[in-house]
Amino acid sequence: MDIRIGNGFDIHKLAPGLPLTLCGVTIPSEKGCVAHSDGDVAIHALCDALLGALALGDIGKHFPDTSDEYKGIDSRILLKRVCEMVTKRGWRIGNVDITLILQKPKLAPHIPEMRKMLASVLELDMERVSIKATTSEKIGFIGREEGIATFASILLFN
Ligand code: MG
Repeated sequence: MDIRIGNGFDIHKLAPGLPLTLCGVTIPSEKGCVAHSDGDVAIHALCDALLGALALGDIGKHFPDTSDEYKGIDSRILLKRVCEMVTKRGWRIGNVDITLILQKPKLAPHIPEMRKMLASVLELDMERVSIKATTSEKIGFIGREEGIATFASILLFN
């Protein structure tokens, strides 16, 4: 058996009146992510982790934010495409671990639905999909609710 690990990181700016979509789930929030796509910062980090595990570049290389094709796109479509690149090469996902960093809103009530959504897109059991959330203790741009960041780690095996 061969194994690979990958990590991904993404940040998006928050602005009032925009939808907040995280892991494919729309979360009630006063602010949402400013983005060319739907701004799903968690899925973007996860795509980068998957691509990184196989040294396939990054999300910007495969889905440039200068392309009209990706304007407002549901990031689950991007994730599906990245998964196809992974499975086509004979790799399977062992587990996914995501950490979201944001001041508001509290994500705890939404995490089961977010895990379920990602598990379905990735075609994995829910117990292989971990999503955690933390604040930045009101420090810095995240603490001022100006932005949101996400780390993602992934293990692939074949
Ligand atoms: Mg992004």
